[in-house]
Amino acid sequence: MSEFRLLPDEQRNLWIGGSWREAEGGKRFDVLDPADGSVITDVADGSADDATDALDAAAAAQPAWAATDPRERGEILRRAFELVTSRADDFARLISLEMGKTLAEAKGEVTYGAEFLRWFSEEAVRIHGRWMKAPAGGTRLLTIRKPVGPCLFVTPWNFPIAMGTRKIGPAVAAGCTMVVKPAELTPLTMLALAAVLDEAGLPAGVLNVVTTSDSPTLSQTLMADERLRKVSFTGSTPVGKVLVRQSADQLQRVSMELGGNAPFLVFEDADVDAAVEGAMVAKMRNMGEACTAANRFLVHESVAEDFAHKLGERMGALTVGRGQDDGVDVGPLINAEAVESVAELVTDAVHDGATVVTGGSAPEGPGHFFDPTVLLGVPAEARINEVEIFGPVAPITTFATEEEAVARANATEYGLTSYVYTRDLARTIRLAEALEFGMVGVNTGLVSNPAAPFGGVKASGFGREGGFEGIDEYLDTTYVALPVG
Ligand code: NAP
Ligand code: MG
Repeated sequence: MSEFRLLPDEQRNLWIGGSWREAEGGKRFDVLDPADGSVITDVADGSADDATDALDAAAAAQPAWAATDPRERGEILRRAFELVTSRADDFARLISLEMGKTLAEAKGEVTYGAEFLRWFSEEAVRIHGRWMKAPAGGTRLLTIRKPVGPCLFVTPWNFPIAMGTRKIGPAVAAGCTMVVKPAELTPLTMLALAAVLDEAGLPAGVLNVVTTSDSPTLSQTLMADERLRKVSFTGSTPVGKVLVRQSADQLQRVSMELGGNAPFLVFEDADVDAAVEGAMVAKMRNMGEACTAANRFLVHESVAEDFAHKLGERMGALTVGRGQDDGVDVGPLINAEAVESVAELVTDAVHDGATVVTGGSAPEGPGHFFDPTVLLGVPAEARINEVEIFGPVAPITTFATEEEAVARANATEYGLTSYVYTRDLARTIRLAEALEFGMVGVNTGLVSNPAAPFGGVKASGFGREGGFEGIDEYLDTTYVALPVG
């Protein structure tokens, strides 16, 4: 543990009011290597009082921060973008180590995550209200956009930097202060990011980071406090529901980026090779541990065999191993429970009649790995089609008509991402209109883009991150009535 060099010792602590400090009582918790569960290092284990100290700092910093010039806030984000980019290799190593993904994928996440800092550095100077004559004349109607105030951000382990910058970027741009609680499984990257934002000139108290092994207590404590005005959460739907309920007492504004169950539709007129290419990205990005991961492959019966075999060949050729090792394409899952849960879904699907095209089980030997798997002939009602797989498994179910495909695709409580492969323009439009999802990828396996409004409907939550919409989550509107005679 003493050999851990990726983060200075002092930074493995709480970041509150512009200084690093230990948790109350000197408590700490271990950070584990997902490949085998061994201890990498440890970080401070923040208490409810520590969290309150962080909110004290955020509340104290709020008025002055709200009054800073937009350009100044934008320039800080721009410098942070440049610092993260110039240290992309260090960030990638940290992400790979604590989360497991390969260095190449981690580098991709750093680029993606940093882009939110750049995008919102550009949005900081584009916050504006409006001026309008009332329909009956006389009065002028003006609007002012103001920061909502101190925020709480709770982020998941699967994208340790990007899920942070998607919230921190717009909040900084809007003039909000914040307390960030990263996932217990991946706290290191957020601590490194806090140090970078400090270096970029973010004033003390604007961003505070509290790592903890007791997330429920932290959220209850902060959300019971009337000074907290906003909660933005990325994570699972059950926890999202808990936080929405908790937000009722102080009527905090909430943004919820929750789970997904993305359908990946391949029609009879699709370019099957392109669909396989897109499927590799949509399924295998982050080992399948992504809210946007293609979860259900719905393929027209006339091309299903061809698609399954080509996808099986590609998936079967991937090398599974530690994310930091050369030549590895697929890292470990986050922990032993994740492997167990994926294995169970595969076993159930096979029991229900699915055929294994490739993979199907965890490889021999130690570690939290699962072989890239393709299943054909999965019954529509199989459990694997109902829940988030969060692993490298592609279950294929066939359909006969467009109507059936749409009905199947929408037959889920979730509504985050969907993917369609077709060369028919009219069909593309019909699908974009009929699919009950916040995002539709057309002939692509990747929808995430910092300039686009990312978010879901139904059990996938509400609110948007990125795009022009992203900053709205952090702004309130004051309307001014001005009669002019
Ligand atoms: P999770 O278990 O819901 O945890 C997410 C975060 O919430 C973690 O920081 C966790 O802390 C914290 N948490 C848990 N219980 C809490 C409570 N009662 N009060 C406050 N915080 C609490 O989800 P996960 O397993 O980390 O992430 C995977 C999920 O995130 C999947 O469902 C995935 O689809 C979703 N996700 C959605 C998006 C999106 O943009 N829609 C993006 C990425 C991931 P601890 O770490 O301490 O448990
Ligand atoms: Mg926990």
